[in-house]
Amino acid sequence: MGRPPQEPAESEGLFGMAELMAAATPTRAREHRPFRDGPQARELLRVREIHAEPAAAASWRGRQIIARFPDARVVETDSHWRIPHLHGNQGNVERWVRVKRETLVLGERASLAIRPNGRSADWIAPGLSNGCAMACAYCYVPRRKGFANPITVFTNVDRVLNALGRHLAATGPKKEPNQCDERAWVYDIGENGDCSVDDLISDNTADLVRAFRRWPAAKASFATKLVNPDLLRLDPQGRTRVRFSLMPPDDSRLLDIRTSPVPARVEAAADFLDAGYEVHFNLSPVVIRPGWRAAWDDLLRMMDDVLPHRVKEQAAAEIIMLTHNQDLHEVNLGWHPRAEDVLWQPDLQQPKRSENGALNVRYRDTVKPQAVETLSRMIQTRAPWLRVRYAF
Ligand code: SF4
Repeated sequence: MGRPPQEPAESEGLFGMAELMAAATPTRAREHRPFRDGPQARELLRVREIHAEPAAAASWRGRQIIARFPDARVVETDSHWRIPHLHGNQGNVERWVRVKRETLVLGERASLAIRPNGRSADWIAPGLSNGCAMACAYCYVPRRKGFANPITVFTNVDRVLNALGRHLAATGPKKEPNQCDERAWVYDIGENGDCSVDDLISDNTADLVRAFRRWPAAKASFATKLVNPDLLRLDPQGRTRVRFSLMPPDDSRLLDIRTSPVPARVEAAADFLDAGYEVHFNLSPVVIRPGWRAAWDDLLRMMDDVLPHRVKEQAAAEIIMLTHNQDLHEVNLGWHPRAEDVLWQPDLQQPKRSENGALNVRYRDTVKPQAVETLSRMIQTRAPWLRVRYAF
């Protein structure tokens, strides 16, 4: 499974020297330096503290991760779900981004349940992470952990892969095409994080991509907002669908904190296709604000201009209108209030109690269908090659 334990990352003291040496190295030689060891990845993740369940720390994957961040302090924890000074701690609002950059949690995944979905994917797979180093202001991933949600990496990879294999064997081949896929059962492997970021930490994403390569009746799928070129080396052989999440660049600069710029995500699509991925797009979340129509129109024109024919031929999209949350609104006011100027629009939104009791808000029944209709019409005009798989 995966690569042997990584060479310890360069210490911070050596980092400047390594950069100087890289600058003096011919481009061809530098091409082999993994993105995960480069300056952009280090800006995203500079791990100083690892909270680890004992079994996770002792596991093969856990030892690889601890070796990768040799300067990090390892703190034993009983449960990755209950780390009082990380989870549910209002004080962390001020250190929101720092916690994401500097803290990791290692745990063992307890639930291996595979849930039916039917929208983005046929099934939601048990993911190998929970949490994210990026900090989108509308992100629903922290909803169960409270305020700070650094990445929890699950180290019992084999158990998750075995559960997926058993599920697929029990389900058998897909007999009827549906909007998720014509032939394959689609498993969302990144419901609670971003697999491109997870790949900066360990080979968990690589292990999932390789596993799906062996399962011709299935396809992995994950949404991402980070362009991680290391994923181009994984040879997915068409069994993994990457969904680049897109929104107008102005919205993204305000809301998608710490992510790759939207034009970079669009430009990366052809590389990912050529590397063996299926490439779809998540038009999400659609945020209604003054000028939103013109902004989406520009984005669709840009996609039409930039994407080559081979990407367009196989592309499809999901449209996901913003759902926001009362608690998240309160939290955001503490660290990024400008985002709430567009996310929190009581005149346009109505409450919706979620299954877990949280108070969500979504666009009113009088607003949302028209907005979906408007965007769908724009797609027909500006990007008629883009099949909309579903709108939500
Ligand atoms: S990239 Fe996804 S998981 Fe990460 S913060 Fe943004 S919405 Fe959340």
